[in-house]
Amino acid sequence: MKSFYDHPSDPDFFTPGAEAQAIADQLRQIASPDETRAVMARWSQAPAFNLLGVPAEYPSYQPHLQDYQHISLTERYRLYEKVAFISPILMFSAPGPGMAAFAVAGLGTEQQQNAFFNRFQQTLSWSCFAMTEPAQGSDAGAMETTASPVRGGYRLCGRKMFIGNGMIADTGVIFARTAPGPLGINAFIFNPQSAEISRYALALNGLKGTNLAHMQFDDLFVPQADMLGRHLKPTERFAKSAIATFDALRPCVGALALGVARRAMHEWQRDRQLTLPQSAWLSQMERRWLAVYRLGLQVCQQTEDKRAPENHPGMVKTHCVILAEELICGLIHRAPAGDMPLLNRLWQAFRDVKAFEYTEGTRQIHRLNQGYSHPPAVSSCL
Ligand SMILES: Cc1cc2nc3c(=O)[nH]c(=O)nc-3n(C[C@H](O)[C@H](O)[C@H](O)COP(=O)(O)OP(=O)(O)OC[C@H]3O[C@@H](n4cnc5c(N)ncnc54)[C@H](O)[C@@H]3O)c2cc1C
Repeated sequence: MKSFYDHPSDPDFFTPGAEAQAIADQLRQIASPDETRAVMARWSQAPAFNLLGVPAEYPSYQPHLQDYQHISLTERYRLYEKVAFISPILMFSAPGPGMAAFAVAGLGTEQQQNAFFNRFQQTLSWSCFAMTEPAQGSDAGAMETTASPVRGGYRLCGRKMFIGNGMIADTGVIFARTAPGPLGINAFIFNPQSAEISRYALALNGLKGTNLAHMQFDDLFVPQADMLGRHLKPTERFAKSAIATFDALRPCVGALALGVARRAMHEWQRDRQLTLPQSAWLSQMERRWLAVYRLGLQVCQQTEDKRAPENHPGMVKTHCVILAEELICGLIHRAPAGDMPLLNRLWQAFRDVKAFEYTEGTRQIHRLNQGYSHPPAVSSCL
């Protein structure tokens, strides 16, 4: 591993190793999404990931486990980068409450939180967060999925796209429109295995092995008790769920991109005698990598301290992805033409990083958001 990254005050709570690599390699080969559960269940770290994002009030029933339940956002950022060094699909395929945890913790009543989080205390469980739609994409304002009030609850109709773990999840949060206009969007806890949901797995180039689903909802009944944020004003609901989720997790998605890029650098220079121009280029890229990595850490720290981040979290993700793309392209152009094993690994990294451009919003949208936000962001590393 490269010394430029190591830091003496950086306690190692996840040590990437051969076992994680073997699990990631198996995930890349799976033929059907159901295999994700079986492969992940064989990983000794899976129970620890199962608790990532579960609030402290719901401790594990197996307290001897090394768990990630109590880690801060900065630690989560570092964890994502380290996991992605092995393979980002470990993070996408891991059990745990994932993105849905933010919505349930932010919007849920005590009863809803108990019902949602208890399952992660007991057993490995997968969750999903269903926001994006095939026609409207992630433009939440144009959301078409409807939740129509009926006796005792709501009936959900519509389609969701690119839903991580949508094929295998045991629970999840879905966003649907109860009324026209921006305040008409609400979040619901739902059972992704319900008979009224039809789904298929999407074929992927980037992040191959991850399961992303198209889900169609035909009159799915959701009891009123599973609507999140009923005790909050409509103006507070969306801000407390979707926006809070994305602000916290966008830098972490950036960290995944940086982890993939660091691995690519590692592979590229392993067992090689670098020429002087190659060394100079690599040193420059390492310095830029470190600057962007620290920018993400800083934003996570500010969010954790409940200070307004100096940089828009979406722009942090954007900086990470742009740098990772440039770095991996540079490595591909500088790789020996006949070294197919190395080139294959670099091309895989290239495809994976392209997927991060889309995960949690594209760069154009983040630039627009930053442009319209006040005060303007103060720094750029690129
Ligand atoms: C690996 C992966 C995992 C995902 N997991 C989930 C998940 O679990 N749950 C979920 O709900 N979604 C998930 N998504 C979906 C993801 O959030 C969306 O793909 C992403 O937000 C982009 O939205 P879109 O696909 O609609 O693209 P679009 O918004 O349609 O963008 C397409 C292109 O048009 C550009 N563009 C769009 N609007 C504008 C504009 N106004 N001005 C200028 N340019 C514009 C964009 O920059 C982009 O280049 C996942 C995606 C990936 C790749």
